[in-house]
Amino acid sequence: MKAVRMVETGKPLQLQQIPIPSIREKDILVRVRAAGICHSDAHYRAGRSSMGRMPITLGHEVAGEVELIGPQVTNVTAGERVCLHYNISCGECYHCNTGNEQFCDTVRMIGHHVDGGYAEYIAVPERNAIHLPDEISFEEGATLMCASATAFHALHKARVKTGETVAVFGVGGLGLSAIQLAKASGAIKVFAVDIKMDKLELASEYGAIPVDASRVDAVEEIRKFTKGKGVNVALELIGLPKTMGQAIESLGVMGRAVIVGLTNQPISIDTYNQVLGKEAEIIGSNDHLLQELPVLVDMARRKILDTSRVISQIIPLDADKINKRLDDLENYTDDVRAVIVP
Ligand SMILES: [Zn+2]
Ligand SMILES: [Zn+2]
Repeated sequence: MKAVRMVETGKPLQLQQIPIPSIREKDILVRVRAAGICHSDAHYRAGRSSMGRMPITLGHEVAGEVELIGPQVTNVTAGERVCLHYNISCGECYHCNTGNEQFCDTVRMIGHHVDGGYAEYIAVPERNAIHLPDEISFEEGATLMCASATAFHALHKARVKTGETVAVFGVGGLGLSAIQLAKASGAIKVFAVDIKMDKLELASEYGAIPVDASRVDAVEEIRKFTKGKGVNVALELIGLPKTMGQAIESLGVMGRAVIVGLTNQPISIDTYNQVLGKEAEIIGSNDHLLQELPVLVDMARRKILDTSRVISQIIPLDADKINKRLDDLENYTDDVRAVIVP
């Protein structure tokens, strides 16, 4: 089969011919119908994260059709439409048993530690397959598995309650999902902070109050809209020290700031005024949980969550085109979401 693979750190991905993966007793073989290209893939290609092995097929946002099932597979049938949870966990260790399987002792991520979805086929354990209803396209199903799932988990970590206010810093794929899911969780006002007009327009179409940080001070603007109180929840989805600071600063009493964007830059905090004095919380959110995904897929089926407008480019399983997309993500020249359809 064809697979687009990382052969060497910092070098373009290559198209290779490799054998169709074999499956073990509890595995399934999936014919890939859509694989999202994620900003993380640009980080992996650049060598900013250690890979399981090389060469490795990238791609952790995968949807497709089940081609073959192992003899002990009971919950998935051949021909079924599925999307795939990207973390393969053991299901037996302490963290798996306490509902935090992203910290499984032996967790491995598809497209990072084991071969992913930039290929015609992928093999995964049965329990990683989430049924994908006919109403959701493979392309949407694939992107649900990363950006939307991460936004969903972050909102769970934030413990959003009915009637609360939420500020979303960064209106990319994560942000657009976060806005819709926050409203579905009962938030009465959702502020969307970004510096790009087209993104802010899209955010307001999904019911958010746009805050154009290229023109106004985001924190002051949020305070103005909340009668000086600040928000109950702020999500930082960009990964910049400046916006992390703004997310924390925009909180009201007992507010929760959830940090989702990745950076290794430190931030400084006024511990009394920003945290202790108002009993604010700063919460980290990492990945998402298998148990969250069927709920998320059902929300997409019911159109509570619409990600169809997040996907803006479909490309074939072609190394040059994929590398070009990763270059664009790397340079932030263009962050439209592309999906590979092999
Ligand atoms: Zn991703
Ligand atoms: Zn485990």
